[in-house]
Amino acid sequence: MKSDSSRRRFLAASVALPAAGLAKTSNIAETNSALASAAAAPVSPAKPRYKTIGRTGLKVTTVSFGCMITSDPSVIERAADMGVIHFDTARGYQGGNNERMVGNALKSHRKNLVVSSKSHGGTTQQALADLDTSLQTIGTDYLDIWYLHAKNSGDEVTDQLLEAQQIAKKAGKIRFAGVSTHKGQDLVIDRAIKCGKIDVVLVGYNFATDPKVGDAIAAAHKAGLGVVAMKVMAGGFRRIKPGEKAYAIMKRDGAPVAALKWVLNNPNIDTTIPSITDMEQLDENYKAMSAKFTEADEKILAQQLDYIRPLYCRQCGACEGKCPQGLPVADILRCLMYADGYGEYPLARERFLELPGEVTGVRCSECSGCTIECPNGVHVSERLMRAQELLA
Ligand code: SF4
Ligand code: SF4
Repeated sequence: MKSDSSRRRFLAASVALPAAGLAKTSNIAETNSALASAAAAPVSPAKPRYKTIGRTGLKVTTVSFGCMITSDPSVIERAADMGVIHFDTARGYQGGNNERMVGNALKSHRKNLVVSSKSHGGTTQQALADLDTSLQTIGTDYLDIWYLHAKNSGDEVTDQLLEAQQIAKKAGKIRFAGVSTHKGQDLVIDRAIKCGKIDVVLVGYNFATDPKVGDAIAAAHKAGLGVVAMKVMAGGFRRIKPGEKAYAIMKRDGAPVAALKWVLNNPNIDTTIPSITDMEQLDENYKAMSAKFTEADEKILAQQLDYIRPLYCRQCGACEGKCPQGLPVADILRCLMYADGYGEYPLARERFLELPGEVTGVRCSECSGCTIECPNGVHVSERLMRAQELLA
């Protein structure tokens, strides 16, 4: 039942396709044939596409570069040489080392690029202190976009933080103010529109996201805000077996590129920041800019949706407050996604250990029965136990 319901939501969220593109994917032969033809499809020459981010005037390629898990600066340098314009980092990534690496990799291109970073600071002073550290670490006088990092509700976008962005703008330290959100995206976007002080929203959005987020994105676009999409590959889960390489699997199933194309097909998205770790991923993502979202892609994503259903938390918030032990389920499952989906165990552990001790100390294996049933089919207690075993 959950499977059909989720598939319907996925299909409903798909941008209009010919009727033939909505065929059922339960026919495995048909699906396999679609996968084979996608794999055999000739590679079209990569042509960059450009859009302007909302009312900022910043013109960027529709595939930009999410640097969060990149550790090889030569991939970032190559992207800039290829013509990618926008690079995104954050104060908190890799304990601050990510900003340093990004700054070093991009220093010879800086004036032609759009660089963004983020702060978790909770007060005006904390956020502004973070900004100064970011500028110093990146080695730049200004950020093009400075995000309030990972807000989960409108209330978290406080007047104090908005004031910090206005102060930074007046001082010439940032050009545009943004807010990023993985959870409660519709609420955060609503606050961003209504406060009138946010230029850009950075939103977790992919083929598995609740359609209400797509509606909120459309409203942001209509209001003139720039919309940048992140988490575009729905956790990046691959069917990796021992001895297999992630990229070989990515090529075989085609899901990550299909997922990126699905997001690019939404006219309300200005650009995307997929995480990129190596040259092959860079090339594949770059090519996605000029590729059409096809019926074969849709079938691949429907199959991928079935695969990730028990694993991937969509951060919908429906289980918020339901655990009697007070576990923030979505936050823990996001940490686990970094390990199981992206293959980034150190990042997953770092994020997990940032959670309060009363959260990291809980063991679901000692619970007499889980009170949480995920409407999206995530095997919640099983996944939490894995997170606790792997990351605590
Ligand atoms: S576990 Fe399920 S209900 Fe809870 S936030 Fe994730 S998707 Fe939503
Ligand atoms: S199993 Fe874990 S998530 Fe479920 S109710 Fe118990 S402590 Fe909470």
